[in-house]
Amino acid sequence: MSTTDCIFCKIIAGEIPSTRVVETDNVVAFRDISPKAPVHVLVAPRTHVPNVAAAAREIPEVLAEMAVVAQQIADAECDGEYRLIFNTGEKAGQTVFHVHGHVLGGATLGWDPA
Ligand code: 5GP
Ligand code: ZN
Repeated sequence: MSTTDCIFCKIIAGEIPSTRVVETDNVVAFRDISPKAPVHVLVAPRTHVPNVAAAAREIPEVLAEMAVVAQQIADAECDGEYRLIFNTGEKAGQTVFHVHGHVLGGATLGWDPA
């Protein structure tokens, strides 16, 4: 399933360029266009689902694979120390409604939710 107006579906389909870091049959990871940390990679399933709870319900094995891919990226780029964030809903800062985990690392991360 995909949506024609979803920017991440277009990135995953290769219709919009991105810098890919890891790619599997189920998951694509690419660098965030506006990085908030020295390492900032987005891990997304090829299947369009809107948020992490929908992913847990509809594609649980792919969600688990996303966590493994996040760890692989962090192992390669920031000594396996990282934050994995799923923004859910507009007030939480979600702007793209195709589930994605933010892999953030490469620095000592603060804890300011604002
Ligand atoms: P959200 O705010 O939904 O949790 O995260 C969306 C992320 O996607 C943001 O960090 C934003 O910088 C990133 N982003 C938005 N458009 C693009 C794009 O066209 N290419 C890439 N690589 N990242 C994007
Ligand atoms: Zn999508």
